[in-house]
Amino acid sequence: MNIHEHQAKQILKKYGVSVPKGDFAFTVNELIEKAKKIKTEKYVLKAQIHAGGRGKAGGVKILNNIEELTDAAKEMLGKTLITHQTGPNGKEVKRLYIEESSKIKKEFYLSCLIDRATSKIAFISSDQGGMDIEEVAKKSPEKIITTKLDYLEDIDEESCKKIIKIFNLKDNATQQGINLIKSIYKMFISTDANLVEINPLILTEDDNLICLDAKMNFDDNSIYRQPEIQSLRDLNEEDPSEIEASKHDLAYIKLDGSIGCMVNGAGLAMATMDIIKLFGQEPANFLDVGGGASKEKVSAAFKIILSDSNVKGILINIFGGIMRCDILAQGVVEAAKEININVPLVVRLAGTNYKEGKLILDNSGLKIISASDLSDAASKIVKAIK
Ligand code: GDP
Ligand code: MN
Repeated sequence: MNIHEHQAKQILKKYGVSVPKGDFAFTVNELIEKAKKIKTEKYVLKAQIHAGGRGKAGGVKILNNIEELTDAAKEMLGKTLITHQTGPNGKEVKRLYIEESSKIKKEFYLSCLIDRATSKIAFISSDQGGMDIEEVAKKSPEKIITTKLDYLEDIDEESCKKIIKIFNLKDNATQQGINLIKSIYKMFISTDANLVEINPLILTEDDNLICLDAKMNFDDNSIYRQPEIQSLRDLNEEDPSEIEASKHDLAYIKLDGSIGCMVNGAGLAMATMDIIKLFGQEPANFLDVGGGASKEKVSAAFKIILSDSNVKGILINIFGGIMRCDILAQGVVEAAKEININVPLVVRLAGTNYKEGKLILDNSGLKIISASDLSDAASKIVKAIK
């Protein structure tokens, strides 16, 4: 689960990390009222969307006074921002954040994440932070250092020093850096975070370390024990079809291709996506209906696939084990009663009750192209949508 920058900064503050003073709002009037309460030379106005790269897309503005701020806020609210992280459709700005401005001497990059390959917690740090970090990673990767740590209750002083070494901090700022790493580590562990990314972490002109931006992601599997984090969920930022899928406990992820996939088992789902690509097309989604899916669940899944206007054809690939092919067929027929299926449908059934399943589909009056195996199915759906 992702959260907004202003929420991430609140959490950081709770753990003792320095962040600029700020407040968020859903309307321009509310924002201006809140801005007037902040003592600052200039104002920083920031679009709150679950995506980075806002600076380069006009989603971060520095304004000299309330008049300028009002005009900029009016323009930003409701605007669709397209950044390198939003995808081509962009994201509509529904909330704004106003912050005191900071005087930057240097911009650093700092993140903490789980390194799954080594089962360790990794800190990534660089003295080349800011909006061009992707370029730095490509052109001068030696300027980015990774420090991997064993999972422990606390982080030791030595590791903290190793992580911040590249920042080359002096005097008072060194201790601030060590405290910052300790706080971020504690926060990371206590909140079941997957990722904390501070870019930029800045050294101010008067040599203080401040987090100017913050991105956080939390593990969905442990969110049940993090009610405070869960309450920060913003459904406006999530794909409606994924929200619908989570209600039915379906493992569904929307993708950009044109072939909708209904599959049971994550491995088979991935194999199905791969083979669609092999035949020259792209999957419109990942969907694992799971083991003992009911016909209601199958029907919900089918409707979710069809609600995606990019879907030009559907491939159902079921290997009946715990999942029975006849239940699957009933779910599809059920869904077809409620919504018109106006795209080609290729079905490959194997395993438990596949004959019964096929019979149900054959008698349903639906136009179905049957396939004998996985590559037959993929080649037929690719041909059918042409
Ligand atoms: P992102 O582009 O979505 O990652 O948004 P950021 O919050 O990182 O802001 C983008 C850039 O705006 C930062 O890298 C800074 O260079 C600049 N910026 C943000 N806040 C301030 C500020 O208070 N003062 C100054 N001078 N620059 C700022
Ligand atoms: Mn940033």
